[in-house]
Amino acid sequence: MSVRKRSQSRPLLPAAHLAVMRRDNYFCVYCDNLADVVDHVIPYRIGGRSIRTNGVACCTRCNMLKRGNRTMVVYGLTYLAIKGESLKWLFNDIRNGLIDMDRL
Ligand SMILES: [Zn+2]
Repeated sequence: MSVRKRSQSRPLLPAAHLAVMRRDNYFCVYCDNLADVVDHVIPYRIGGRSIRTNGVACCTRCNMLKRGNRTMVVYGLTYLAIKGESLKWLFNDIRNGLIDMDRL
């Protein structure tokens, strides 16, 4: 199975974007500064979905630092799990070959 070819990014729909920002109180989950973007915890370019359960509030600086940083991906997923978000989509997508962590 091959991973879908994708552009670099795709924003969440406005309702999901707002839900993420409200859940995370508009603070960056990585550094606690004010958030100005929603980060795809599993990056969009490797197959991560543009949905609330793959999004965290983030500042621009951390969003750039995170590229290729597996520790920040693990942190983000842990954060989502602690917040009670279901990550079943992630394991389904991995099982179906839709996410390629080797390309992180
Ligand atoms: Zn930050």
